[in-house]
Amino acid sequence: MNDVVFHNLRLLDPEAGRLVGGMSVRMQGDRFVDIAAGVEPSSDHIGVDLGGRVMMPGLIDNHVHVTSIRTQWANKSYMHLLPSAVAAATWNRMKAMLLRGFTTARDVGGADRGHREAVAEGIVIGPRLFVVGRSISQTGGHGDQRTRVDHPSPDENFHLVPGHSGLRRVVDGVAEMRRAVRDEIRLGADAIKLQVGGGVGSPADPVHFVQFSMDELRAAVEEAANAHTYVACHSYTAKAVRRAVLAGIRSIEHANFLDAPTAELMVEHGAIMVPTLVAYEATMKYGAAQGYPPENLKKNEGVLAAGTTSLEVAKAAGVPMAFGTDLIGELDGFQNDEFEIRSRVLSNAEIIRQATIMGAVVNRCEGEIGVIAKGAYADALVLDGNPLDDIGLLASGGPDFRVILAAGKVVKDDRAIATAAPQAEGVPFGPRPN
Ligand code: ZN
Ligand code: ZN
Repeated sequence: MNDVVFHNLRLLDPEAGRLVGGMSVRMQGDRFVDIAAGVEPSSDHIGVDLGGRVMMPGLIDNHVHVTSIRTQWANKSYMHLLPSAVAAATWNRMKAMLLRGFTTARDVGGADRGHREAVAEGIVIGPRLFVVGRSISQTGGHGDQRTRVDHPSPDENFHLVPGHSGLRRVVDGVAEMRRAVRDEIRLGADAIKLQVGGGVGSPADPVHFVQFSMDELRAAVEEAANAHTYVACHSYTAKAVRRAVLAGIRSIEHANFLDAPTAELMVEHGAIMVPTLVAYEATMKYGAAQGYPPENLKKNEGVLAAGTTSLEVAKAAGVPMAFGTDLIGELDGFQNDEFEIRSRVLSNAEIIRQATIMGAVVNRCEGEIGVIAKGAYADALVLDGNPLDDIGLLASGGPDFRVILAAGKVVKDDRAIATAAPQAEGVPFGPRPN
């Protein structure tokens, strides 16, 4: 088993928002087993001198869609590809995401138990995944991707591609909602995702529509709670967020048009907000080139304009926020731009906390991910500089990460490139992935 002591490093504590110098971190297998000041390695394990560099927990993105390998508007969207081709492209995207520093990701529509297990079992290299299976929408809602001339039922159309989980399913009524939630949990979902308001990418629902009745929302929350899990929801407007929070939905995605009273309601109910601002910026810049229809770009313009204001409203009310991006298709390379966008409103320490500790809270894994602590998964980034001073080190998208550890595996180690000095003893210090 891997038994490595990293020493001579500055440890980033995301809870306190500071660096602690002169620390040593011991890793055995896939976990950190000891964090101490000034411990030197002995002969019974491998020592790695990090030369005073900064070690921080691996990043957590709480809103990704790893199977959306191409924008849905492109001629050959994932819906028109065989599951094998989608899977192959998905693994490539996941590996790239890991190299951008994301050691954990929550997929909120598309990925299934198989994706999660393939990473956990070491079959593929990627972020540890939490999955929701297919997101759940009402007829004509954000998850109903039929064009406005399609008549077949959404499931007969393309929501259930054989052998492929698809991104979404469409249900109407309390009974169908209960069955869908139970079915996603049966299939291995870690949480449930509902579409509770209009969206940018869907053809028939303006952003200000609210979706599902309160009874349907409450039924989903009850079924999730029965299975010891929770509901996340897509919602933009204050009205959609308010209905969701009152129904007991815990993870509020996007929330671009959040207002102060609704923010206070979120705090009161312990709801967490997952903004995804980079999605609108990237769509605005590159959407047209990717075939986005003008009417959808116009919708995107509205949510982008609300953009950072929602961060100000949430911050003022003390709404807990986690990091999310929601980039589909070829836009996924812009994932780390979210750090720069949030820095227009939030402090670097706040953003880092959102991308580490709050990710653990969302996924109910406090102490296991998002921290470098005894018993936590050995997920870490090593940087030359301090991201608490320079968020650009995280926003640059990976080149500033000298070392990336994911569950004890070294997925990147280019310390030699960063310094002219000879490498420390014991390099390479762990089993390398293929
Ligand atoms: Zn959404
Ligand atoms: Zn999404």
